[in-house]
Amino acid sequence: MISVFSKIIRGELPCKKVLENEHVIAFHDIHPVAPVHILIVTKKEIDSLNSIEDEDLFLLGEIAKAAKKIAKDLKLDNYRLLTNVGALSGQTVYHLHFHLISGRRLGPMA
Ligand code: AMP
Repeated sequence: MISVFSKIIRGELPCKKVLENEHVIAFHDIHPVAPVHILIVTKKEIDSLNSIEDEDLFLLGEIAKAAKKIAKDLKLDNYRLLTNVGALSGQTVYHLHFHLISGRRLGPMA
């Protein structure tokens, strides 16, 4: 089934975009848990970190680069970057993405 993020990537659903390039798109989470809560999503449809193929591992570098650029643009010195794998961890959208969370003091766990 096509994910909600694929619909955003295709322009079929709106988003508050902060960055886009050939490999990733980043936009504000619709239900932010902090003043800054941005999702960095691979354009390629990959269910989760657990199903990424070796040939796509470079996308993790693209996500890291995107996070660094967003942090620079938004002047964020402190942030958390995380991905959920599986329902018990909190994954609700099965399309690889990382949460960039910032803007408040974060506890030891998200
Ligand atoms: P996860 O629970 O780790 O799979 O993260 C999925 C995230 O996607 C949640 O934080 C949702 O709030 C967010 N989300 C779901 N639909 C949308 C949407 N249309 N636009 C922006 N964020 C969304």
